[in-house]
Order: sequence, then C-alpha cells, then structure tokens
Amino acid sequence: MNIIFGPVYSRRFGKSLGIDLSPGKKQCNFDCLYCELDPAKTVSTYSEVVPVDEVMTALAKALEEHSSIDFITLTANGEPTLYPYLSELIDAINRIKGETKTLILSNGSTVGDPNVRKALGKLDIVKLSLDCATDHCLHKLDRAHSGITIDAIKDGMLAFRREFPNVPLIIETLFVKTLNDKPEEIAALNDFFLKLRPARIDIGTIDRPPAYAVKPLSYEELYAVSHLFDPSLPVYIASRKKVESKPEQYTIEEILQTLSKRPLTQDDIEILFDTESQKRLELLIKEGKIITRETNGVLFYVLS
Ligand code: SF4
Repeated sequence: MNIIFGPVYSRRFGKSLGIDLSPGKKQCNFDCLYCELDPAKTVSTYSEVVPVDEVMTALAKALEEHSSIDFITLTANGEPTLYPYLSELIDAINRIKGETKTLILSNGSTVGDPNVRKALGKLDIVKLSLDCATDHCLHKLDRAHSGITIDAIKDGMLAFRREFPNVPLIIETLFVKTLNDKPEEIAALNDFFLKLRPARIDIGTIDRPPAYAVKPLSYEELYAVSHLFDPSLPVYIASRKKVESKPEQYTIEEILQTLSKRPLTQDDIEILFDTESQKRLELLIKEGKIITRETNGVLFYVLS
C-alpha cells in the first residue's frame, strides 16, 4: 500500500508530499459525478483504517529521503476527514514537521462536526470543496451520503472561520456543464462566499476522465462564470483547460475595465493578455494604478 506519494511540484504549494489516508480502496461519503476514481457506494465511516504509527513511519521515511519539503498534504482515495484518528495523526505530524507546512484537501462534508473542525484548526492551510449551495445540487452532482445537508456544511464552514480565523481557508468549486453552472446556483454560491470570505476560491472544471458521463466547461465558459462572482471575492481559475485559450490584445482601458470586474491572477494574465498587453499592465503597476496582492501562493492583480 502506498501511503505516501510524491513529492509533487506545484506553483502554489512548492514541493509537496502527499499522505493517502485510504490507500487500499475508495472510501468516500460523496460519489461525485466528476470523480477521477471509479464510482463507489458512499460510506459514512472507513472500514479499512491504516494505523497512525504506520502512516508516521512511512512519512518519516519519505521526509528522510526527500529534503526541503514545503508541504505535507493530507488526502485520500476518498474523503480524508473520515479517517477516525485524524486529530491524533495531525498532532503526530506537527511534532515532527519542523518548518514544513500542512494542508488538507477535503470535500467539506464533515466540517459541521466540531471535532473535525478542531482537528482542521491544527493545520496550516485548509482546502475544502463546495460545488453547490443547494441540497438539490449537492445530491445530484456530489451524490452525497444520505443525511448530509448543505446547511450543515455551510454552517460548519462559517463556524470554522469564526473558531480559527488565522488558518487560511481555501474553497474549491468544480463546475460541471448543466449541473452547477446555472446563474441561480452561482448566485447562491456567491451569497454564501460573501458571508464566508474565504482566503481564496479556486474554480475549475473536469480535467481528467470522470466517473460518469458528464461534461466540463470550456475555459471561456469558466471565465464567464468567474465574472458572476462579486469582484471583491478572490476567485482564481484553477484549470488545465486554460492552455486551450489564445492570448489577446487589451488596451489600457480594457485592462482597467477587466480588473474592475474581477481580480486577475498571474496565470489569467499569461493566458488572456498578449505580450503587448502584459507590457501595458506592467506600466499600470509602475504608475500605481494596479497593485498586487498575494494569498497563499497565488498572486492577484487588483485596482489600487
Ligand atoms: S469527494 Fe473526491 S473522492 Fe469523493 S467522490 Fe467526490 S471527487 Fe471522488
């Protein structure tokens, strides 16, 4: 069983080692239509549990083999917060991690549980998914285990922000054609994000073959979706579909106009702006009309 994977490199998190808390099989309380894993019956608890000692032995060995790890990422073939010893495991990691930071990638379903929130509060960064703002969408797209409600998830996220204001909370929303890309669903997500005020909202679409026959949005559609969110929200388009788009020419006025609708990231700029437009942007920065703001590894360009 491969409990540890990586290191993997990313612009946002640097050199990261992953911990798979369910290395034997998929154990998840969602069965998302877009899942990269095979479809599986949802569960509310793990039936296969790797002991904390075993995880820690594998992690210590990997940390010895690979130097200068920036992040230890808790993840799973399924949902990592269903791991029954999550809190103990995070304590054990915190005892040995030194300067390395910790991160979890969770579907957000259990954040209504105060014990889960307490465990998450001991991490350096928490990244939770939220694809839907309504129960109908949650059960249609994420096919959540019975008993999971969107209100419990939303209330749990708000409670987490109140209880652990210093732990950056990043939200990931994956858009699937005809399922959660309708203006009403996006408006409901927007209303909730304005209350939650997460450190960042990563929006994406299906990048890998999905478990069921569902369709991704194009980069252009995702870009249009990003404009349906309030301009004060730090929305980041995190999708490999970007590469399909061609850079275009933007005048000074168009650059300022675009940034008044939504902050842009370095990635957005490289995809949308041709070389001349990027030079115009640099000029606007020098003139102080545009400033940069960094949130957890992503640089945003905003109007000053
Ligand atoms: S939460 Fe993640 S692992 Fe679980 S079904 Fe959805 S995409 Fe797959």
